[in-house]
Amino acid sequence: MDRRFLLRGAAALPWLSLLPSLASAQATHGPGCTRRRVRPSDPGWPDNAQWETLKSQVGGQLVKGTALLAACETAPKDAACAQALSNLRNPFYLQDQVSGTEVSGWLDAWTPAPSAYCVDARTPADVVAAVNFARSHALRLVVKGTGHSYLGTSNAPDSLLVRTHAMRNVQLHDAFVPMGCDAHVSPAPAVSAQAGAVWFDLYSAVTTQAGRYVQGGGCTSVGVAGLVQSGGFGSFSKAHGTAAARLLEAELVTADGSVRIANACTNPDLYWALKGGGGGSWGVVTRLTLLTSDLQQFAGGAVGKVQAKSPDAFQRLIARFIDFYHERLLNPHWGESVKLSPENTLTLSLVSQGLDTPTSQALWQPFFDWITASPQDFTVSERLRTGGFAARSWWDPDKNHSLVRDQRAGEAGTHAWWDGDQGQVGAYLHGYDSLWLPVSLLEPQAQRRLADALFAASRHKEVELHFNKGLAGASPEVLAATRATATNPAVLEAFALAIIADGEGPAYRGFPRPAMDLAAAHEDARAIDRATAELKRIVPDAGSYVSESNFFNERWQMAYWGSNYQRLRAIKDKYDPDGLFFVHHGVGSEDWSADGFVHTRAC
Ligand SMILES: Cc1cc2nc3c(=O)[nH]c(=O)nc-3n(C[C@H](O)[C@H](O)[C@H](O)COP(=O)(O)OP(=O)(O)OC[C@H]3O[C@@H](n4cnc5c(N)ncnc54)[C@H](O)[C@@H]3O)c2cc1C
Repeated sequence: MDRRFLLRGAAALPWLSLLPSLASAQATHGPGCTRRRVRPSDPGWPDNAQWETLKSQVGGQLVKGTALLAACETAPKDAACAQALSNLRNPFYLQDQVSGTEVSGWLDAWTPAPSAYCVDARTPADVVAAVNFARSHALRLVVKGTGHSYLGTSNAPDSLLVRTHAMRNVQLHDAFVPMGCDAHVSPAPAVSAQAGAVWFDLYSAVTTQAGRYVQGGGCTSVGVAGLVQSGGFGSFSKAHGTAAARLLEAELVTADGSVRIANACTNPDLYWALKGGGGGSWGVVTRLTLLTSDLQQFAGGAVGKVQAKSPDAFQRLIARFIDFYHERLLNPHWGESVKLSPENTLTLSLVSQGLDTPTSQALWQPFFDWITASPQDFTVSERLRTGGFAARSWWDPDKNHSLVRDQRAGEAGTHAWWDGDQGQVGAYLHGYDSLWLPVSLLEPQAQRRLADALFAASRHKEVELHFNKGLAGASPEVLAATRATATNPAVLEAFALAIIADGEGPAYRGFPRPAMDLAAAHEDARAIDRATAELKRIVPDAGSYVSESNFFNERWQMAYWGSNYQRLRAIKDKYDPDGLFFVHHGVGSEDWSADGFVHTRAC
């Protein structure tokens, strides 16, 4: 265990209580019951002297918010604009910018907006100062790690932003014991990460360098804190469960400005809520510690694309694949996705763990043979292949050439992202929806219903089945660990998360591009709704993954958390009774106007 890392956090705590109290300002808004948050145009907005005080409390790390492409709005021909535009498809550049967001907005839902001010936190003490300031002045507070929220929950106009980007230490432990758990919990290998770290940082340290495994996200540029609070799925989640299920301990700053530890022994209710209860609702997480495990020898996958020559043939292809999946792939070895498109194509992008090339080939050969035996029905448009290689090379850009390196001067070698994720960088969403599909649909007598619904949905829009985001087929231990999180229990019964989404290229304000074709964008959104409706026919009350879901989902409490919602709401009321931490469709957000500025429930 690394003592230095723990001591740095612990040493900060007594000092934090010495920060100046801002209780006098709070009184003007009524204790514990803020009715309306203030905007820069309101008389209650802090004056310059008060902002200067905050700036000195956070070591000077307070900046005014400016739009991501502000340089292009004011001086489109200048070098600053050219530099921003040349980096706009680099996810690590975007998250380096104070107002950067990974997606550039969502039709009729949200548009990226800079905060009025941003605290670029370096320490938990900086976070405490920002939280106290926001609470005391009735400000709209926003928390951001990387800006990877599809729902736009890490940006808001007229707000104070707490950004954790600069807090990126990663530390491995041989034998970690959560604080206060000495008598109850055996020491375990683990990794601690400050909240601004991204999964690539952890994969480099844990897998590439140390030869072990940590459960994180598929997308390497996603932040550790946001993903764990989402639940969090990676390619190998069928074998290891959600990232949240591997959380041993968190350090966070709650709405009252306290630095708290949350683990199985200390604040266990908060610990549970952080495990999938949604980012930005519980406090500002400053550090997380996750269990690590042995690394399997092999990782690999199965890829390729098949086009059916008629709708009938496509229906047969879907039915055959479902049967094959049920028989051979519904187990901890297989994750990631297939796509079913309106062009009658099936695209395989599956990922495996623990299987070498001969074993994978023997497994897949019957399915590949079935396709190639019917050239009158199917064309193989991208070669069908499968295999496995050393798992330790999975996140090593020197060895895995599906990773794109961050090539910026001074950054080369520090980060990389999957070429398959490139299309998402800067994308503008027309629509997005997701549904957990129960494993009962794979039973032989139900497969026809499933195949028909998938085919019907694919007439409107491409449907992706993410097998690693449904945990049916996982081991009893993995299911038990994920059951002990706040994520909707529907995930345990689901063999896959169906995702239907689409959009277009970057639409950041100031980005030079033709005007958006709004009619086409709205028609695209309706097509997504129609495709989703076809799947809802067979899963009317489907659960949905909080961080990959429909902004407009009206039954979000049930969809994201199911039977866990009431318990989450009680924990929210205990730690944040005044709703300081508001996000769209976050726990307790039903008490607030859509923008989080007006409290709409009597108190
Ligand atoms: C391109 C892309 C790929 C993705 N891939 C995956 C994937 O493979 N698997 C998966 O499960 N999900 C995936 N997601 C969803 C992603 O996990 C969530 O959006 C997650 O919340 C992002 O966290 P972040 O910190 O990176 O982003 P941010 O936008 O910075 O934060 C997201 C939310 O978490 C809150 N938050 C961030 N940091 C903190 C903190 N320190 N304390 C408290 N709250 C905080 C924010 O307030 C916000 O509400 C993906 C999203 C995108 C855009």
